[in-house]
Amino acid sequence: MNLEEYKGVYVFAQQVDNEISGIAFELLGKAKELAAPLNTDVTAVLIGSDVKGLADQLAEYGADKVIVVDDPELKEYRTEPYAHALASVIDKYKPEIMLVGATAIGRDLGPTVSARVATGLTADCTVLEIGDFPLVAVPGKEDEQKHNQLLMTRPAFGGNTIATIACPNNRPQMATVRPGVMQKIEPIKDAKAVVEEFNPGFAPNNKYVSIKEVVKAVSDTVDIMDAKILVSGGRGVGSPENFKILEDLAAALGGTVSCSRAVVDAGWKPKDLQVGQTGKTVRPNVYFAIGISGAIQHVAGMEEADIIVAINKDEDAPIFDVADYGVVGDLNKIVPQLTESIKAAMAAK
Ligand SMILES: Cc1cc2nc3c(=O)[nH]c(=O)nc-3n(C[C@H](O)[C@H](O)[C@H](O)COP(=O)(O)OP(=O)(O)OC[C@H]3O[C@@H](n4cnc5c(N)ncnc54)[C@H](O)[C@@H]3O)c2cc1C
Repeated sequence: MNLEEYKGVYVFAQQVDNEISGIAFELLGKAKELAAPLNTDVTAVLIGSDVKGLADQLAEYGADKVIVVDDPELKEYRTEPYAHALASVIDKYKPEIMLVGATAIGRDLGPTVSARVATGLTADCTVLEIGDFPLVAVPGKEDEQKHNQLLMTRPAFGGNTIATIACPNNRPQMATVRPGVMQKIEPIKDAKAVVEEFNPGFAPNNKYVSIKEVVKAVSDTVDIMDAKILVSGGRGVGSPENFKILEDLAAALGGTVSCSRAVVDAGWKPKDLQVGQTGKTVRPNVYFAIGISGAIQHVAGMEEADIIVAINKDEDAPIFDVADYGVVGDLNKIVPQLTESIKAAMAAK
């Protein structure tokens, strides 16, 4: 493998039903940052059927170039044709970096493609940057340190440590990133990308599953990743019934209820509402952590909130280390009082 041949930062621009998923825009924002020190450009890879018209949206969020693989075989996501499409793009265009969203689709596609093109992939990265590897040169082996590597950082060993991983001897350097971790740029109005169409040819074989029916999940809950105000409850709330006091607070504020994993594990709330390393990464304007201790795996999913308010009876709870405002006391007294004060303040307006 001649590493010098591999150039550019590429993003898999996931679309479902011809609508680009938010993760694609978030990855483009990060790709732009990574491309600057490498002095290269950003390419989005758009795979689907009848998707060419979506290319300009990708340009608005930072893609300099869009490679479109458009084929009727790619109408719905299936592992085999999509993996063939992306692996063929990598073989032909030789990207230095390939970013994929850690969505249900990306978690399937990313590792399949990395195995096919014989490179490494770091899953669920929380930080991506360009730097030296090893981070500190080994004394006496300074000339073996490689520069301009993709440094991929993610929690390891159950979140008890943070590991920085590189892929110095293979290309592309591949990473998946969960939705909500990176930030999209302000859209560049009327931006246009260079669009290139590429079709490697699709010959259905016994690995092409046939889709009989698509059944869409219907949910009446707001996606906590979109909420501006989250009222999040932990084991300290005590029971599923007692979440009523959090729902009242959320209603008074126009917010949404979310929770810790302990609450999901106890069967009090659905997994959709879980914040954290194995739940969702959220970035609301205000995050209330109520009866939540602040375990590292929980904090990993909410520390980027603009304002964090913690309510906990234990003044040494680690949640206070990341909170902007903290109230030490019994949530059963504090939360209803807070709700009443907010209602009174709203009524006085
Ligand atoms: C691999 C791995 C992944 C994980 N992923 C996640 C994840 O995605 N999200 C997540 O949340 N966790 C995750 N965890 C679990 C995490 O380590 C913690 O166990 C979990 O976050 C604890 O939830 P909690 O804070 O609700 O409960 P606890 O740690 O039990 O904390 C309850 C808190 O409530 C307070 N409290 C009790 N009663 C009251 C009261 N009346 N008034 C005020 N405060 C009160 C207590 O002081 C305590 O601080 C993961 C763990 C592992 C190993």
